[in-house]
Amino acid sequence: MKKMKLTTKIFLGLILGVLVGLLMQRTPGIANTYIKPFGTLFINMIKMIIVPLVFSSLIVGSASMGSLKSLGRIGLKTVLYYLLTTAIAVSIGLLLGNLISTGHGLVVPIDANIETTEAPSMITTLLGIIPSNPLKGLVEANILQVIAFALFLGVGCTAVGKEKSASFVNFFESLAEIMYKITAFIMECAPYGIFALIVPVVADYGTDVLKPLAMVILAVYLGCVIHAILVYSTAVKVFANINPIRFFKGIAPAAITAFSTSSSSGTLPVTIKSVSENFGVPKQISSFVLPLGATINMDGTALYQGVCALFIAQVYGFHLSIAQMATIVLTATLGSIGTAGIPGGGLIMLTLVLQSVGLPLDGIVLIAGIDRILDMARTCVNVVGDASCAVVVSSTEKNIDY
Ligand code: ASP
Repeated sequence: MKKMKLTTKIFLGLILGVLVGLLMQRTPGIANTYIKPFGTLFINMIKMIIVPLVFSSLIVGSASMGSLKSLGRIGLKTVLYYLLTTAIAVSIGLLLGNLISTGHGLVVPIDANIETTEAPSMITTLLGIIPSNPLKGLVEANILQVIAFALFLGVGCTAVGKEKSASFVNFFESLAEIMYKITAFIMECAPYGIFALIVPVVADYGTDVLKPLAMVILAVYLGCVIHAILVYSTAVKVFANINPIRFFKGIAPAAITAFSTSSSSGTLPVTIKSVSENFGVPKQISSFVLPLGATINMDGTALYQGVCALFIAQVYGFHLSIAQMATIVLTATLGSIGTAGIPGGGLIMLTLVLQSVGLPLDGIVLIAGIDRILDMARTCVNVVGDASCAVVVSSTEKNIDY
């Protein structure tokens, strides 16, 4: 109920922002001087929590794998499935972004104050994933390094065993909980932040901004449907011999919960219930695959990041090379591991994807106003993806029982 209210408020913030922006088209200076700073404050709050949120939630996620044995075969299958489907998702997003040309028709000139960093090469990105100094990675908010270090710590925790790692894991569990709460608080500010972000954009660029945003919504929703039909239908049919329609029907309660809460983590109990009741996935598998999935598997989010990165590139007049698109696939795939399964988690990670290819972070402003609408669809896909993995892993382990 509370979430619904927040969603309504965010919609209201967006619509009011557009209306006020339209009214202020003749006085964009006022909008930029007096309203935009509140939007910047909102973006800064989001940036503030990236590192602690990713670091703590990922340590807890990877440490919850139990014994090193269970970390073995099932862990490998799960992680491979998650990474592969996520890479497909972001590729679909990039393809749709190219085909639909979401950003054409709106050209936002680069602000001279925006720093455009030279895009790092693929090999530099790959080598840079393992931090030679993890503390430096944390301080500089190098998210890929933060993810790598957190994974090492999580696996290390599993290796030394529950008893010895308990106090360490407990600390990060509590940090993760606190970060979720702070994120929830920041999301409470979202209606105002979004209002303040959208007013100067509309005041500066007028209604031209709306058409391409509608195209972004179309591209993300279409991509989600294509990904679900293409990837999950095939996976459950081929590996688990389940009729796709039956799969989607069985997972519908979790999908609807995800759509309305915009949180994979919040949907987790429903997801576990749906896969065990409707597909007979045993508890040992669902309790390992699904919580991990809610933390590290975000197909819908990666797809959305592909669409948005292209949209922002087109709007700011950047041409993305094939190598840069490959960097986006890699960053969004790895970044989705560190995305928290909470409302707005993917928007935070979008900064990382933009940064990886030197796109202006200000592009986030354009997306933030419609992010909640996109979040509902992508969370739905995130959760259905987790469930499909549980069904597939369980069936390949010959444990499924219809
Ligand atoms: N809300 C999404 C989830 O919980 C994450 C995101 O914002 O993309 O799965």
